[in-house]
Amino acid sequence: MDAYDPKQVEAKWQQWWEDHHTFEVDADLSGRDRKFYCLTMFPYPSGMLHVGHGRNYIIGDVVTRYKMMRGYEVLSPMGWDAFGLPAENAAIKKGVLPATWVQQNIAYMKSQFRRWGVGYDWRRDLNTSAPGYYKWTQWIFLVLYERGLAYQRKAPVNWCPSCQTGLANEEVVDGKCERCGTEAAKRDIPQWFFRITEYAQRLLDDLAELGEWPETVRTMQANWIGRSEGARVDFRLEDGTPLPVFTTRPDTLWGVTFMSLAAEHPVIHKLVVGTPQEKEVLDFCERCRLQSAAVRGDAEVEKEGVFTGAYCINPVNGERIPLWVANYALMEYGTGAVMAVPAHDQRDFEFAKKYGLPIRVVIQPVEPDAASSEPDAGASGDVRTCPAAPAAGSGAPAAGSGAPAPLRPEARQEAYVGPGIMVDSGPMTGTPSPSGIPDVIAYLDKEKMGARTVHYRLRDWLISRQRYWGAPIPVVHCPACGIVPVPVKDLPVELPPETAVEFPPKGESPLAKVASWVNVPCPACGRAARRETDTLAQWLCSCWYFLRYTLTDAEREPNSKPFDRKKVDYWMPVDQYIGGVEHAVLHLLYTRFICKVLYDAGHVGFNEPFKALFTQGMICKQSSITHKLEKMSKSKGNVVSPDAVIEEYGADTQRLYTLFVGPPQKDAEWQDDAVVGARRFLDRVWRLVAERQDLLAGAEPYAGKGADLGPAEKALWRKAHQTIRKVTDDIEHSWQFNTAVAAIMELANAAAEVPREKPAAPVLRLALESIARLLSPLVPHFAEELWVALGHQPSILAAGWPQFSDAACAEDVLEIPVQVNGKLRAHVTVPAGASEDEVRAAALASDLVKKHIGATQVRKVIYVPGRMLNIVAK
Ligand SMILES: [Zn+2]
Ligand SMILES: [Zn+2]
Repeated sequence: MDAYDPKQVEAKWQQWWEDHHTFEVDADLSGRDRKFYCLTMFPYPSGMLHVGHGRNYIIGDVVTRYKMMRGYEVLSPMGWDAFGLPAENAAIKKGVLPATWVQQNIAYMKSQFRRWGVGYDWRRDLNTSAPGYYKWTQWIFLVLYERGLAYQRKAPVNWCPSCQTGLANEEVVDGKCERCGTEAAKRDIPQWFFRITEYAQRLLDDLAELGEWPETVRTMQANWIGRSEGARVDFRLEDGTPLPVFTTRPDTLWGVTFMSLAAEHPVIHKLVVGTPQEKEVLDFCERCRLQSAAVRGDAEVEKEGVFTGAYCINPVNGERIPLWVANYALMEYGTGAVMAVPAHDQRDFEFAKKYGLPIRVVIQPVEPDAASSEPDAGASGDVRTCPAAPAAGSGAPAAGSGAPAPLRPEARQEAYVGPGIMVDSGPMTGTPSPSGIPDVIAYLDKEKMGARTVHYRLRDWLISRQRYWGAPIPVVHCPACGIVPVPVKDLPVELPPETAVEFPPKGESPLAKVASWVNVPCPACGRAARRETDTLAQWLCSCWYFLRYTLTDAEREPNSKPFDRKKVDYWMPVDQYIGGVEHAVLHLLYTRFICKVLYDAGHVGFNEPFKALFTQGMICKQSSITHKLEKMSKSKGNVVSPDAVIEEYGADTQRLYTLFVGPPQKDAEWQDDAVVGARRFLDRVWRLVAERQDLLAGAEPYAGKGADLGPAEKALWRKAHQTIRKVTDDIEHSWQFNTAVAAIMELANAAAEVPREKPAAPVLRLALESIARLLSPLVPHFAEELWVALGHQPSILAAGWPQFSDAACAEDVLEIPVQVNGKLRAHVTVPAGASEDEVRAAALASDLVKKHIGATQVRKVIYVPGRMLNIVAK
């Protein structure tokens, strides 16, 4: 056996797996019990994968290989999420056509996958920007369109001034464009939306089925959907025009002192045109509209507003309520009109303070002390409502004496949002709150002033982009027929040749300038019509790619359907999905939605696409620019190329280091000088086998029950079984690859210590073969080579996962801690399976225990079998 040479070993096995179609798998339609669909999120073909990306694919490969060794038929596909801005930006910057750029990058990245030794069924490869694929992405759009779930409307939308395109709410992070970091603005343009809001409740309810998803992701989705229960309250303008509001706090309705309108609210125009306030109000609205929702919704942003001069009527008490426009009121939430209760809402409170608006307390905190010092407050309802008036009467004596602050709102620095008793609230006065909220809703309902409603934070999904590199939205605008969907038989609507296109964004799709492409006859009436020039967000392409993988390229050949129902129902749902947590409310929510629509339309037989989800942490590295630990990125100067690491140490070393660097759920730091440690371990195992080849020749792996072994051999035999048990548990249940590696290292150390003598050969063979098999999912090339060196035929994947026996794992002797009067005083060593009497006798014979009992009498002995002996002595 030569010295370990990863270059030679890795090239050899990559070729072997390819030649033997090791990762090619076909649906066995006779039964599904051995199928396992392991899906790793596919990459954007942006050029080069770095070692941080590698974590995702390496983990996916460990799962794939582990499941194969356990006898599963594992579907492990890979493809390319190839539409979207980077390709188009590269075209603008470098003059490379997007399709060419994508092709070059795919070729390179595919070679990177090969060098990592990650196993995929490449017959299922797909590229979302290929017409054969996006034909069906367009078909999905039509499925939604036919079901009334896709619509176009002119609306203020998030707009990235740098990318020159509309953005979905999910793509605006902290007020900035998710892709380029530019502050997002608002723009009024016609855009296409998907009615994901119609699925809000189902998307929320079905989270309960996703028990194998991380709790954090489920919580993020639930928060994003943002269900809140409350009431619609029918305020009216003075001329009777309805002005409904949504509130989660109908119990504070009697405390409304003004109304905040979102700058986009359609009623504003009617209220101010021709009034002295017109210019001031409309200017203010214009300023607000230019700010993004995130900025306006930020609690820290200065509250600003302007009075419209108009009033509305509070239905519960007939009061005239002044109508303001406020920068923190958002059209996206509720109705765009917000009833303001400054005594019990912090933003309203700050706004009221700033503009001198009344603050009226209607929820009285329940505080026993306060109640006694203010006999006339509370349930009597005798509470002042005018904040401008200095505290008088009953309030005065209590000043500074710890009375409940809300009674003097003008002195307070904040709103009171806690529970209490409703006061000064007409017929509801004296009702406890918040449990009184349903009572108020019932009252509104009875008096026909409003109704119970459920409100969601989730908005419809903005799906159109004003860019070239995406699937064209398959509709035609006809002057006679209006919007006409392109018939399925005419799909795909292919992009015009790139050479005809001017890429630099001008705020409308570059497609609009390609007259030969835009002008088409109407599919319905044949008259001259225009194609829709917006393209679909690439998020839609990745909503169904895992369905397409269920067909091989040859099976897709006629391209008469997006997928085969039988095969989809065989492989789906995905058994294990692996990817980054940054997709929690983008990809993972969109995909669940599209899956439900396809289910409702009868195209698939399942309602949730991903049974289990694993989100790996990021690999970070000290940045040469910020000198902080940061996610790897070119701009931070901390990207590590796997090519260099593989060149120096080998792919298996990089894999092992990546798996050993920390718990895979957590972020971890990449340290260049620590990588060599992983290589040293592989060298050590290699020598362990190389130096024992003569000894092992002819020996079978030990399969006895241990009775015939000497002490050193027995210890190694036990260690081998214990290690198999631990590594199995670490991979199968807790995804602790790092501790699995540590356990294998310990076993290797133990094997090195056993004398190289003939009687030890069977146990040594058992230990070394176990090491090879346990390492196989982690460092596959290395393990394959070791397996052959141990005298076997390839492949180790077919050799299966090693088995352990509980009896072999059990120790011969146990160490039992002994407590005297609750304090740990000694340990006694007893044979495994010793009775309580034997343990007790051994403990009482111990000098340490005798010393602590001293002259006192043993009153009681409590034995927790195998764990602890407790002696009570007095
Ligand atoms: Zn942008
Ligand atoms: Zn027509």
